[in-house]
Amino acid sequence: MKRLTRDKACYALSRDDEPVLHVAPGEVFCVETQDAASGKLKSPQDVYTEDLLPFVNPATGPIHVEGAQPGDLLRVDIERIDTNNFGVMALGDNKGGPMAAYVQSKETSFLDIDGGTIRLRENLSVPIEPMIGVIGTAPDGEPLSTLDPGEHGGNMDCKEIAAGASVYLPVAVEGGLLALGDLHALMGDGEVATCGADLSGEVVLSASVLHAALPTPCVETEDHLIFIGSAKTLDECERIVLNKSFRYLTDCVKLAPNEAVRLMSLVGDLGVCQVVSALKTMKFKLRKSALTAISAGGIITGT
Ligand code: CA
Repeated sequence: MKRLTRDKACYALSRDDEPVLHVAPGEVFCVETQDAASGKLKSPQDVYTEDLLPFVNPATGPIHVEGAQPGDLLRVDIERIDTNNFGVMALGDNKGGPMAAYVQSKETSFLDIDGGTIRLRENLSVPIEPMIGVIGTAPDGEPLSTLDPGEHGGNMDCKEIAAGASVYLPVAVEGGLLALGDLHALMGDGEVATCGADLSGEVVLSASVLHAALPTPCVETEDHLIFIGSAKTLDECERIVLNKSFRYLTDCVKLAPNEAVRLMSLVGDLGVCQVVSALKTMKFKLRKSALTAISAGGIITGT
């Protein structure tokens, strides 16, 4: 299995970056990732400073997927996420977030992970739920920082991007130029303190090229099809994800508009991914059991 080492880090998704790995569609490969501070926070005395900003949120890549052409869809199947054994939480970083006023002083803490749980204090251990914070393709335009989420994917911090999930991303340039990183051992919806249990690790995955019309970014889990949207305000995010879900139901599943609206209100869950980046991210989760019943040709049609 090909392995992409974590020294191949990038801080932007750019069509001009040379691929550091070439993979064939469906080929299973491994990507090592750095933690969200590029490993620079090593002790409680190392706190978040402006100097750290250029090193925040590295992704590993870009990865060229053979045959992927602009207009195609990339389906990334996440097989496994193996995390390191300690998570870093840097409170009081310069992004603030909704909890900024409550943070008394800058503080970096290290969370021990043992036996699949994070030990928070003597009587409190919580199970980890490893997820990928950043995963995206290169845009056909100006490079996009790995701090930003957007139509290309990026720093979505959607906790459903976990082992077993498939992530659908647009292909804007030849090969797609996929990159991923910013693993979290655990993170709640919103990421309200600006960080999860950030840590390094490795991801085993494969990427396939599809010719299908599907609003992206989109995540498929065992139970849900999830449309993701990012914008400056949550109101705008909500409008984007509802529109993507509506377009999917009317264009792909061929429901009549009112039928789509009814279904969305009954089996769709609107939720927040993160509220701490300059662009916030929301998700709309459609229950797959309902979609399977009405999609004769499969939930995602195309080849
Ligand atoms: Ca993130």
